[in-house]
Amino acid sequence: MNTPLTEPTSDQFEDVNCYHCGESAHTFLLTGQDDLTGKPGNFTYVTCDGCGLVYQTPRLKIEHIGDWYDDDYIAHRRKKNWGILTKFYQRGMDKHDREKDKLISRYITLNSDSRVLDVGSGSGSFLQRLRQQYNCSAGGIDFKDLSDLPFYEGVDFHQGLFYEAPHEDNSYDLVTMWHFLEHDYDPVQTLETAARTLKPDGRLVVEVPRLDCVTYKLFGNRWPGVQAPQHTVLYSKEMLTKFAERSGLEVVDYLPWGAFPAYFYLFAGTVFLFFRGRGLNLQKAIYPYALGQLLLSPILLFEKRLNLSMQTIICKPRS
Ligand SMILES: [Zn+2]
Repeated sequence: MNTPLTEPTSDQFEDVNCYHCGESAHTFLLTGQDDLTGKPGNFTYVTCDGCGLVYQTPRLKIEHIGDWYDDDYIAHRRKKNWGILTKFYQRGMDKHDREKDKLISRYITLNSDSRVLDVGSGSGSFLQRLRQQYNCSAGGIDFKDLSDLPFYEGVDFHQGLFYEAPHEDNSYDLVTMWHFLEHDYDPVQTLETAARTLKPDGRLVVEVPRLDCVTYKLFGNRWPGVQAPQHTVLYSKEMLTKFAERSGLEVVDYLPWGAFPAYFYLFAGTVFLFFRGRGLNLQKAIYPYALGQLLLSPILLFEKRLNLSMQTIICKPRS
């Protein structure tokens, strides 16, 4: 892990047709770089001529994408933080997991009989919070083996792809995908698997960056939601809704915000504009990050109404 990557060669890429309508004709939209960690490479995002979906093509073949998820990758960052583990059980969870919990609690009441699955479960801290709060049974799935991370204690972890994993139909009360679907190589199959494995009154909660938002207009190809090459699809509200509806799901609610802080996109987009693909050093950035947050706090009070960066769709299986 953390070996310096060289620029990917053309044989590591594959062309893909539109994930929604299957059309191969498309129009160039932007070139993305790995602005978050500064790894080399230029990645092409296009708009489908058939339906308007924005997606990456060519994309890295799935056997190569794992190299782009190393220890620096933000969802797995907690791996380094063994030191805070003891405090974790006393203090409860950090703000991000609290926000996720608050969000799902608008739509479902969990208890000791509930079964929850988090797809793309990363550090596992969200699942551990749900176990602590509701005594529910929690499962996680990720394409990297994260089962030795401390937050997975008591969590049923499966390494692999969601749609290839053995899940029984009608078995989950809640399936969550926090910033997973925009990484997915087959979002329709993923959403169909969610529809099939949810109980009839179960809920699916999907949070992804929103393409038709304020920060994309501000930052363009330096928008943090591009996050090349990991992000395969950049969803607008319209396209996210279409994906859910075609996959056997009924939309219960739509939110122009999510549990992930909108401010991160304002800050990171500004940094990415200046550093242009050389990466963001989070340790050095922590003081400017805090200062910017303080200065923007009057605006951020209204972040749920401003369509700054995120979106969340809440669905149930279509009956
Ligand atoms: Zn299309």
